[in-house]
Amino acid sequence: MSGRAEPYRADLLAGRHVLVTGGGTGLGAAMAGRFAGLGAAVTVCGRRRAPLEETVERVRADGGRIEGVPCDIQRRPRVDAMLDEAESRQGPVTDLVNNAAGNFLSLSDELDPRGFEAVLSINLVGSFHCTQACGRRWIERGTGGAVLAIATTYTDTGSPFVMPSAASKAGIVAMLRSLAVEWGPHGIRLNAISPGPIPTKGAWDRLMPDGDLEEAFRAKVPLGRFATREELGDLAVFLLSDAAASVTGQVVELDGGARLAGFGSFRTLMDVPREELSRSFESLRPRRRGPPPTDERS
Ligand code: NAP
Repeated sequence: MSGRAEPYRADLLAGRHVLVTGGGTGLGAAMAGRFAGLGAAVTVCGRRRAPLEETVERVRADGGRIEGVPCDIQRRPRVDAMLDEAESRQGPVTDLVNNAAGNFLSLSDELDPRGFEAVLSINLVGSFHCTQACGRRWIERGTGGAVLAIATTYTDTGSPFVMPSAASKAGIVAMLRSLAVEWGPHGIRLNAISPGPIPTKGAWDRLMPDGDLEEAFRAKVPLGRFATREELGDLAVFLLSDAAASVTGQVVELDGGARLAGFGSFRTLMDVPREELSRSFESLRPRRRGPPPTDERS
């Protein structure tokens, strides 16, 4: 915990089984490690097997209980099978973190419609599949449960150049607010965290064309810094924990005040000439064409 005071009791999440989508990399992997460190059993899923295995190895080396189950969350039968597998290994899933997402920078008029469909399919449809699959089980079992979505600071405002992501995250928040009311009587809580930029390989490869943009974003944050993975983990723990038993349908921003200052989106890039943006965005595209690689076999 790099010198930070530990804010939580060591067994705060004992008895929980938390499913983290996209938990093999970046913020998902960091949250998975944090939940396991506080006593939860954790399952991480994602399409590629290798990052899941790396995260499982690292968390187990720290003494955590964790399993990795490959799954493409866009496919409902695979989500159901992944949940069956997760529960056969570690018991009933009690908490869901909808963290998996895809995103890329593009001028919206140049956007390949398949790119729009892919982002909506992973982010919104995939979150729906995981949320409904867990919710059905919790309602049938009468146990209640908690869902946490990882949204973004442009969920409410939208954002130039990442329009599919903005549309999908707004949809995710509409979904959780709807379900917070509908499923409240079943003891199911749903909340979201909207982080500002937090350095991860995934986000930086796709969304930060250069160090200048990173500095431009950082300079606009009223608190003068990006939030850290540890701070995201702590907030996620709080929202899943019984300390937040009456908190539902809420979106908590973790961005140092950037959105309130008008810098919660890629609006900063509006001053860059269109041709330059187009070239820069193209340079960030993966060279591969076709569907993303998958090791997912279920
Ligand atoms: P990341 O490392 O690229 O994480 C994305 C994860 O989603 C990957 O593990 C990926 O694994 C998984 N994934 C993608 N498509 C999937 C699918 N169809 N089925 C299952 N898993 C899938 O990026 P990150 O920065 O940690 O982002 C995590 C979350 O935080 C995202 O929701 C993102 O929008 C949000 N966020 C990040 C930032 C930031 O600055 N980092 C800021 C605001 C919000 P596979 O490729 O193996 O499937």
